[in-house]
Amino acid sequence: MGEFKRTLVTSALPYANGPLHIGHIAGAYLPGDIFVRYSRLKGDDIVYICGTDEYGVPITISADKEGKTPQDIVDHFYPIIKNSFEKLGIKFDNFSRTTNPIHTETAQDFFLKFIEKDYLVKRESEQWFDPEKNMFLPDRYVTGTCPECGHEGAKGDQCEVCGKWYESVDLKNPISQLSGKTPILRKTTHWYMKFNEFQESLKDFIDTRKNWKNNVINYCKGWLDEGLEERAVTRDLDWGIPVPLEEAEGKKIYVWFEAVLGYISATKEWAEKKGDPSLWEKYWKSEESRLIHFIGKDNIYFHALMFPAMLMGYGGYVLEDEIPANEFLNLKGSKLSTSRDHAVWLHEYLELFPPDPLRYVLAANAPEGKDTDFSWADFQSKNNNELADILGNFIHRTVTFVHKYFDGKVPARSELNESDKKLLSEIEKSVSKTGDAFSRFKVRDAVKYMMDLARAGNKYFNENEPWVTRKNDEKRCATTLNMSLQAIKTLAVIAAPIIPFTSEKIWNILNLSETLNWKQAGVTDLKAGHELNTSEVLFAKIEDEIIEEQELKLEDR
Ligand SMILES: [Zn+2]
Repeated sequence: MGEFKRTLVTSALPYANGPLHIGHIAGAYLPGDIFVRYSRLKGDDIVYICGTDEYGVPITISADKEGKTPQDIVDHFYPIIKNSFEKLGIKFDNFSRTTNPIHTETAQDFFLKFIEKDYLVKRESEQWFDPEKNMFLPDRYVTGTCPECGHEGAKGDQCEVCGKWYESVDLKNPISQLSGKTPILRKTTHWYMKFNEFQESLKDFIDTRKNWKNNVINYCKGWLDEGLEERAVTRDLDWGIPVPLEEAEGKKIYVWFEAVLGYISATKEWAEKKGDPSLWEKYWKSEESRLIHFIGKDNIYFHALMFPAMLMGYGGYVLEDEIPANEFLNLKGSKLSTSRDHAVWLHEYLELFPPDPLRYVLAANAPEGKDTDFSWADFQSKNNNELADILGNFIHRTVTFVHKYFDGKVPARSELNESDKKLLSEIEKSVSKTGDAFSRFKVRDAVKYMMDLARAGNKYFNENEPWVTRKNDEKRCATTLNMSLQAIKTLAVIAAPIIPFTSEKIWNILNLSETLNWKQAGVTDLKAGHELNTSEVLFAKIEDEIIEEQELKLEDR
C-alpha cells in the first residue's frame, strides 16, 4: 500500500432480476462506498465501478415465471436498482449494464483471446436435459443435493451453504426447475477453460496477498488444495452473449466468464463518457494502479481465483490488490432471501426513512468478521439512542446555544484548561483512528471512533456547563462553545464517508466556504466571529408504532 497512484474499486454486479435488499448493501456496496468516499475526501485518484449483471439463468428464470422476456425483466429492474443506490448515496462513477454493446465486445474479445492462447478447449459432455420441456438445463435450472456438504435444494452452479462451486452434473438428486421432474443426461458440446493450468500462478498470487482477510485466504487455499479443474464457459441458452464462433451457433458465453468482465467494460464506458476512451487502461493496465473488489463471501471464488486467472490469461492487466469480502447480514436470525421475500427492501425503506440512519446501522453492524443480524428494534435503538441522542444532540445543543447567546457567531477562545486540551486530543485521535480504519476497510471501527468523538463532545459540554458559566464566567463559556464547534467541524469530516447527507448538513450549519475534505479533519481553526447558519434537526426519533408496522410487514411475508 502507498505506492499506488490510482485506485479502481468495484462492487459486485447485482443481478437485474429483483430490487436490492439490505443484505446486498451491507456486504458489497456500503463498505465500498465508504472506502471510496474516504479516498475522494483525501483527494485520491479513484474510480468506483459497478453495474447490473443482466445475463444468466436467474434472469431467464424470473422472465419465465412472470411470462415476460429477459429484456423486459432487466429493463424493469435496472432503473429501480440504480435509483435505490443513488438515493442511499452509493455513488458510483459509472453504473453500467452487461447488456450494453461495449460489454459484448469485451467479453467476446476475452473469449477469442483465450481460444488464441489455447486456454479454451472444446469438449463433448453430458448435461442435464429436460425431455418434457425439450431443453438443456444450465446452472440454476437444476437444483439438487450439494455434492460437497449435502445441503438439499442447492443451486445448480454453487452451494449457498458451503460456497462450493461445481458443475451441475455433480449434483445429487437433481430436479428440473421447469418441470419439477428428474432430468436426464444428454450429450452436448461446450468450451472449457483450462483453469487447472493456472493452479501454480494462482497459488503464488494468493500467497503474496499478505493483507487479505483470513476468510478469503482460507477459502482460496482450500480450493487450491483440492486442485483446480477445467470449467465450461459456454451454455445452451437463448439469453446471453453469443459465442463468437461460427461452429457455436446458438451457444452463449456462460455468465461467470463474462459477468466479472463487466468491471472492465463499465470502466471503458466511463472513459468514453469522460471523452477519453483510452483512460480505462490507466486503471486496468498500469502497475501504478490498485484494483479492489468489494464482494460478499459467496463471490470469493469468482473474484479471488477465476477473475485473476482470466486477467493473467489475457495478459497486461493488473491483479487484485485487495478483496475485502464480507460475511452475510441476516434478518432476525435467518438468511435474507429474494425468492422467499424475507428481506428489507431498499426502495421500500427509502420511501419511509432518510438514507443516513440505514447507512449508519449497517456500517455499525457490518458483517466483517462474522455474519451479523439486522432487526428493526436495533435500527430504532441506534437511530434514537446514538444518532439522535449523541451525535445529533451534541451538534444541536451547541449550535442553538451559540445562536441564543452569541448571536450565531463563533465565540472567542481564551486560555485552554485541562478539559479543553483533553477534547483537542480526542479530536486529533479520532482523525487518525477513523482514517486508519477507513483505509483498512474496518467500517465498524470507523463508526465507533466517530461516535466516540461525539460522546466525548457531549461529555465535555455537560462537564463544562456553559449554561452556568454564561452567568459567572463568560470567557469560560465562550471557550467551551468554541471548542465544541471545533469538534463538530471534525465530526462533519470523519462522519462523511458513513453518513454523507448529514455531514453536508453539518458542514452547511458551520457555513464554511471550503468544500468538505479530509485535510479539514482535526483542524480547529473556526475563527471567532464567523457566522453560523441555523441548526436543523439532524436525526428525527423513530416512534415505536413505525417500527411495529415494519415488524408486522416482515411477519406477513
Ligand atoms: Zn454445499
